[in-house]
Amino acid sequence: MKKIVIAIDGFSSCGKSTMAKALARNIGYLYFDSGAMYRAVALYCMQNGLIEGEQINCDALRERMKEIHITFEADPGTKDSITFLNGVNVEREIRSLEVSKFVSPIAALDFVRSEMVKQQREMGKQKGIVMDGRDIGTTVFPDAEMKVFVTASAEVRAQRRYDELTARGDTPDFNEILENVLQRDHIDQTREVSPLKKADDALLLDNSNLTREEQMQWLIDRYNELVSE
Ligand code: C5P
Repeated sequence: MKKIVIAIDGFSSCGKSTMAKALARNIGYLYFDSGAMYRAVALYCMQNGLIEGEQINCDALRERMKEIHITFEADPGTKDSITFLNGVNVEREIRSLEVSKFVSPIAALDFVRSEMVKQQREMGKQKGIVMDGRDIGTTVFPDAEMKVFVTASAEVRAQRRYDELTARGDTPDFNEILENVLQRDHIDQTREVSPLKKADDALLLDNSNLTREEQMQWLIDRYNELVSE
């Protein structure tokens, strides 16, 4: 059967990663989380004094970009993808609300994006991959055979993020999360380089009222239609 590239884009916290991961597992594809790469860059900035107060030291970050190496490895047990920053497992740290606060302004920097896009295209050369993010169908893989743009209401998305953080033992504030979701939407949609928008040829998926099973069935049906053409 022919192998294709599947690009999944959409708003923050609409379950893209969970969905993309499950789809990849179902069809035997490799999964790549492009948001994790931007999160790892944000974490690098936090760990290396490149953020003072709310200010990102862009000149220093530009200089240091070549020192930032992000790789993925499969967890030996769960087979889930784990993010490594310069060889260190940072999967948990990159999901914190603190990283979420800085990631969008950092992801809006042109020199950060060009480096990440270069690495993402390398990962896609092999085909048979699912990658999720904000600009995968528009910029990273404009020729991807299957493109999906996912959306859900901001409240539904904030609730999902709240449940996720609570489940791992954090005690988050719902309003703070909702504010963060709305703020990231705004930055992602209005930035100059590769703003978040649906590619003309992407399939639209609003999952506000869909169960995970319904959503997966919808994706598998679309995938089967495409590969059997
Ligand atoms: O997908 P996730 O929410 O983990 O991504 C974190 C942030 O990284 C997003 O809010 C967005 O600002 C940025 N991002 C991006 N382009 C991508 C993936 C993520 O700008 N392809």
